[in-house]
Amino acid sequence: MQKLATGLHKFHAEVCRTHQDLFRSLARGQRPEALFITCSDSRINPNLITQTEPGDIFIVRNVGNIVPPYGAGGGSEAAAIEFAVAHLEVKHIIVCGHTLCGAMRGLLDPAGVEPLPAVKAWLQHAELTRRLVQENYPHIEGEDRLTITVEENVLAQIENLRTHPTVRARLARGELSLYAWVFKIETGQVFQFDASSGQYTPIGEAGPPSALPETAVFRRAC
Ligand code: ZN
Repeated sequence: MQKLATGLHKFHAEVCRTHQDLFRSLARGQRPEALFITCSDSRINPNLITQTEPGDIFIVRNVGNIVPPYGAGGGSEAAAIEFAVAHLEVKHIIVCGHTLCGAMRGLLDPAGVEPLPAVKAWLQHAELTRRLVQENYPHIEGEDRLTITVEENVLAQIENLRTHPTVRARLARGELSLYAWVFKIETGQVFQFDASSGQYTPIGEAGPPSALPETAVFRRAC
């Protein structure tokens, strides 16, 4: 805890002082541009990898960056999505998975999560991912299989996202864009799903990230 205590002190003494205007303006309200849904994994820091400030992105984190279909979950994710989309009127929603994801490893190894009943139950919301990988990639093993599971899971959760009424309504009006990203822990790179090639490609410096098309997208099986 000493590291956290030292950090708190440093933040207050150094960062707050140099960002006074920002925090004053944030005290009047928030207007984030995007909803960022990612894994709870400690190795991902959404503000760090996107180089954004407090107030820029509304963040939802859980084990496996999962979005339960509307009406199927405990309600926490649905409430956050509804608040971000209908009240804060975010213009973009990003689902960002990551390589080496322990949750996706658990999805591939049900026996491994047997001692964790809450995790096991939560991963049922990724059943679509598990089945896609089982049926479409029977020949892929090891770490490659895990990476494909991470990539398929982001797309599966995007489809779940589309079942939420507020998301659907704004998509229909063209007021919302969805993005499928994977953060590669080993290199710090972020990949985005490119619907035309059916693959994930690095997000380049040229131009903004590519939004997904309105219809369901599929990773090209290999
Ligand atoms: Zn993870």
